[in-house]
Amino acid sequence: MSKLWSPSIRELTPYVPGEQPRIAKLTKLNTNENPYGPSPAVLAALRDETGDSLRLYPDPDATRLKEAVAAYYKVSAAQVFAGNGSDEVLAHAFHAFFDQELPILMPDLTYSFYPVYCRLYGIAYEAVPLNHAKGIVAADYGRPAGGIVFANPNAPTGLPLASAEVERMVAAHPECVVLVDEAYVDFGAETAIPLVQKYPNLLVVHTFSKSRSLAGLRVGYAIGHPDLIAGLERVKNSFNSYPLGRLAIAGAAAALEDEAYFQEKRALLIASRELLAAQLAALGFDVTPSATNFLFVQHPEHEAATLAAALRERAILVRHLKQPGAERHLRISIGTPDECELLHAALREILGSAKD
Ligand SMILES: *Cc1c(COP(=O)(O)O)cnc(C)c1O
Repeated sequence: MSKLWSPSIRELTPYVPGEQPRIAKLTKLNTNENPYGPSPAVLAALRDETGDSLRLYPDPDATRLKEAVAAYYKVSAAQVFAGNGSDEVLAHAFHAFFDQELPILMPDLTYSFYPVYCRLYGIAYEAVPLNHAKGIVAADYGRPAGGIVFANPNAPTGLPLASAEVERMVAAHPECVVLVDEAYVDFGAETAIPLVQKYPNLLVVHTFSKSRSLAGLRVGYAIGHPDLIAGLERVKNSFNSYPLGRLAIAGAAAALEDEAYFQEKRALLIASRELLAAQLAALGFDVTPSATNFLFVQHPEHEAATLAAALRERAILVRHLKQPGAERHLRISIGTPDECELLHAALREILGSAKD
């Protein structure tokens, strides 16, 4: 705390991202990065963009990327907003739409960045409990609200919500924006994007960080009614005209154009997830069914913190989230088959069942 800080920033509680260790030898299963590298077409596009043109500012509208997203999802470019990672897109959406008379609603266990944005922008929120199976119940969001935000599939639980349930929520709230953060949707949930044609209050946010293997490039986008996109552009253009660099625009557009690579890596990852889920269940873990690239697990006889520490001693990083409702769980990102096997072997040893 410094006396030089303005009063408002003294009140902030920033989000704490998972560790990015400097030691290379670690098996890193703590921040849901894709274990596979980006498509070779992306790397070629980045190389092509690396040259004298870097002295020039990028296109402030990232038109090339917006057009690629629009073509991929069969919407118009005026329905697409692009930002420096979906975290930035989410922040702008909170700023643009959620500072209303009524509090916004979010699940009591969801992406822990949402309450951070509420603090930053002075937005009141109410947490709506998950059900006993850790699922979001659309009917519980019926009350009047200043907005609604949730991740689908939800994080850190990994559970998806059916498109019909999402629609029910959106249809019940024409007075406010419903923000659906689909960071993990490509790993097994239904996207709500087709619903944006019907509901002007729906905004769907995606990232290139997970299924497109580009966490290091920092690109995210939102799809919604042109009026919502125009609202986001107002915030963006009052903050930073060029959130996406030339490399980010070129690389992300190229990622959307390599469908074969995307499908291949996605299928590998889903197969690894299902295998690891069965292996962990066999070790006595309670494994929440996952539609993402991570598993949310809990062992009835072992503390999450103890397991995380024991894995760390074996040079394997997993995430032990401290947020209420997640303290007893570990969130384990799906790695390559070799990384998953390393984790499985380490847990067998830690739980003392290496002999069978
Ligand atoms: C990873 C993640 C994001 C952030 O993605 P970036 O595009 O890397 O900023 C947003 N929402 C959820 C739920 C995530 O897990």
